[in-house]
Amino acid sequence: MPLPSSSVSAQEIWAQTQHELRGALSSQQFDTWFRKVEALAFDGSTLELAVPNAFFRDWLREHYVELLGESCGRILGFVPEFCFTVRPMDAANRTETPSSGEQPSPMAPSRPVSELTLNRQYTFENFVVGPGNRLSHAASLAVVEAPARAYNPLFLHGSVGLGKTHLLQAVCHEVLRRERTFHILYLSCETFVNQFVAAIERGELESFRFRYRHVDMLLIDDIHFLANKERTQEEFFHTFNTLYNAHKQIVLSSDSPPKEIPTLKERLVSRFKCGFVTQIDPPCLETRVAIIKKKARLASSEVPDDVALFLAERIDTNIRELEGAVTKLLAHASLASRRVDLALAREAFRDLLVPATIHSIDQIIAVVTTYFNLKKGDLQSKRRVKSIVLPRQLCMYLARKHSPYSLEEIGGFFGGRDHTTVLYAEDKIQHLVETNPETRATVDQLSKKLVS
Ligand code: ADP
Ligand code: MG
Repeated sequence: MPLPSSSVSAQEIWAQTQHELRGALSSQQFDTWFRKVEALAFDGSTLELAVPNAFFRDWLREHYVELLGESCGRILGFVPEFCFTVRPMDAANRTETPSSGEQPSPMAPSRPVSELTLNRQYTFENFVVGPGNRLSHAASLAVVEAPARAYNPLFLHGSVGLGKTHLLQAVCHEVLRRERTFHILYLSCETFVNQFVAAIERGELESFRFRYRHVDMLLIDDIHFLANKERTQEEFFHTFNTLYNAHKQIVLSSDSPPKEIPTLKERLVSRFKCGFVTQIDPPCLETRVAIIKKKARLASSEVPDDVALFLAERIDTNIRELEGAVTKLLAHASLASRRVDLALAREAFRDLLVPATIHSIDQIIAVVTTYFNLKKGDLQSKRRVKSIVLPRQLCMYLARKHSPYSLEEIGGFFGGRDHTTVLYAEDKIQHLVETNPETRATVDQLSKKLVS
């Protein structure tokens, strides 16, 4: 629910409204028209604002009243009246106040009610349910049905590309579809950390806190990013408690269960565990087939069963890879103006026809060091120069694909790095393989060398 308007001060409302305005305007517009405005009073229906001169007042009335109403309405849950009181400010401020001779900047288009940037395809409708994610999917739906009553917090964990972000955003889409005024905040943990650091630097902790502690639902993606960030952990602990005690829903995702997030403080671990913790497992063959067909349909194409099976049998770890395969397949079909069939799939995925052989990490290291002309010791060292980091990450990626070792074991081989480093390397190279032809060629060559 929005702020209970009876219990907050005009200053609090205005601080939060300014925050909204800052997001909706260019920084120049915000600085010119809103930074210096102060709130004087709020009587439950009218917000009184102090402005430096009559021109300023008229300009706001003419150009910004709608945006003001919208922004403030998001905080209060209704649009208040505004009353502007001219109150000259001190000389320092006055020099920056626009006069009628200047050309004020045009008004920015106002934003839609929700500030969330969501992927439109990450909906429940587009989510394929299978044994690996059934529980997480059901729990996410339960949260939509009964926010803060079913499971609080809901903690989803699983390795990369298994649908955590998709589920979190599906919750947002569905909650907003049912109730547009529900105040939701969805963000990555990295954003939370960055905003916290920025708030400290600018001395704006109060408005930072206000922003996070006055929502109906807070969803934070990749909460494992709190690892090794003691101060942000502390801050998040208080955010968590405030929301939890106010019966607001919290949803978190992570690449590992709470107790395995490195250096996460015990009191956060226990908070995270007090609701519902559920793991997403890699999809089984049938689910992979269904996902391939679904993704093709979303791209307005069809993939026949035998082709979907062909891919699903060969790509068995990560759904993002499955998606990449569908894209590649459809691109091949369209470029060659051909039907999507098994023959086309065999051509497009020649490399997948080679059965995945099991390799030792030493074999992988040998191939990579020869290719890049490095020494094994370089890869195991702490050095972080680019010419070593990339080969090291390639090794980790190949080890994930072609060796039976766990994340921890792979990390151990490379100078005792932890599992998140390996996951990061895997994710990064995977992304490069999908987006960068040069890396794709390198990975292809290394894979071929491994096989031969
Ligand atoms: P994570 O956040 O766990 O790393 P994502 O949510 O980003 O993974 O998922 C990676 C990709 O796989 C996304 O494009 C997502 O739509 C897709 N995906 C994951 N799980 C499913 C599923 N069960 N059904 C359909 N698509 C899925
Ligand atoms: Mg994610």
